[in-house]
Amino acid sequence: MIIFYKTEEIETFILDLKSKHKTIGFVPTMGALHEGHVSLVKESKLVCDFTIVSVFVNPTQFNNIADFEKYPINSESDIKILQEIACDVLFLPTKEEIYTANYVFPKIDLGLLDQVLEGKHRPGHFKGVIQVVYRLFEIIRPTKAFFGLKDFQQLAVIKKMTDFFDFNIAIIPCKTIRENDGLAMSSRNMRLSQTQRIEALFIFESLILAKNLAPKLSPIECKKIIEDRYLESSLKLEYFEIINPESFEILITNWCENAVACAVAYVGDVRLIDNMVLN
Ligand code: AMP
Repeated sequence: MIIFYKTEEIETFILDLKSKHKTIGFVPTMGALHEGHVSLVKESKLVCDFTIVSVFVNPTQFNNIADFEKYPINSESDIKILQEIACDVLFLPTKEEIYTANYVFPKIDLGLLDQVLEGKHRPGHFKGVIQVVYRLFEIIRPTKAFFGLKDFQQLAVIKKMTDFFDFNIAIIPCKTIRENDGLAMSSRNMRLSQTQRIEALFIFESLILAKNLAPKLSPIECKKIIEDRYLESSLKLEYFEIINPESFEILITNWCENAVACAVAYVGDVRLIDNMVLN
């Protein structure tokens, strides 16, 4: 695996790949890699000639400085994991390599996407996500880019951005990888104590409960029952919403096809996100 730290060097390398008409698969990450990330890399390796992973903890997408400071960093283990699965290239830039002094931030109106769920609860988060992914797309110019369905709304934001700026990149959604008991894998899980790890399972259980309730109740009734259950738990619910997966409208009385339940809850000070298709 080749590791690049400098934008200019990886750009030269990519020019060479392009001149040889190689297809490039790209997996942007913030590191502290786990099986969820690995599944994206494997998917890319299946369908592309070359797979590039970036590891960059992007400061501009953290609306909470404490969350940024506590974000796990594990470069040595990341390199080992990527070598084991024969990833071709790792891009490990510094902040200065990504945000050059004359960098002009892309502007796009996300509409409702920026007003509900993560957009509402993490002001400025998607602006930061767009900045970094736009910049990485400019540098890597991949054929396909792979994103996890675990960050369901982020995937929609990336798709919208790719269309809006006419990037000729196929955005490939990849299914959520879970621990054996159902907890969605996340870099943040590393910060959970043993007890919190058990408590965190409640998020998955609440989504399963919503799935079971869905045929009998309206979305708002379903939401109400789940919210009450959180009040009895040790978790602090930030939001539980059932949405239309296309428009991101919050469902109240009527269901739509493939309605998605989206949950964010704190286990101690660790913020965890998950979602599930209900019908
Ligand atoms: P992150 O490093 O958390 O920014 O995630 C990088 C990419 O991996 C994003 O596209 C995430 O949606 C994806 N990802 C994170 N966790 C999982 C998971 N458990 N299953 C599948 N994809 C994931």
